[in-house]
Amino acid sequence: MGSRTISAVKPPTIRELLDDPAYRRFMKQLPSPEPKAIGLPWFVYAQKGQLQWRGKGFVTYADAWPTFVKVVRNDAYVDVALVSKRVLYKMPPEIAHIMSWPFEWCPRCRRPTMYELFKRHHAMRGNIFASRAARCVFCAIKWDFAVTA
Ligand SMILES: [Zn+2]
Repeated sequence: MGSRTISAVKPPTIRELLDDPAYRRFMKQLPSPEPKAIGLPWFVYAQKGQLQWRGKGFVTYADAWPTFVKVVRNDAYVDVALVSKRVLYKMPPEIAHIMSWPFEWCPRCRRPTMYELFKRHHAMRGNIFASRAARCVFCAIKWDFAVTA
């Protein structure tokens, strides 16, 4: 068993989101501005079981895209997030209709998410000590940082 309780309420999965033509168009565009191609500014986090996540870093969005698509098409995975580790993106108005209560926009995952308390998180190493900050369930960005982005 994991170190957190699993909420009954869950953000829409990436497959549900991609069923929306506007969101699909948004995801297929190169995000602007693009982060500098130094280090690994893009991460794909793929969820296999309920608490079983895998992450892989990429230099560019274009590099990450084929892995993201492969996971989206693989039914063995529950969900997947294509995460910007460096640049935070505001929600463009053309996809505002994908948002619904109680979910909030994540400026790194660029999708509706929930912010919860974690002791461990697949996007972070080790235990999260001395932190009671709510974090994005996909990428672990702190809520207070995300909402002021
Ligand atoms: Zn996130």
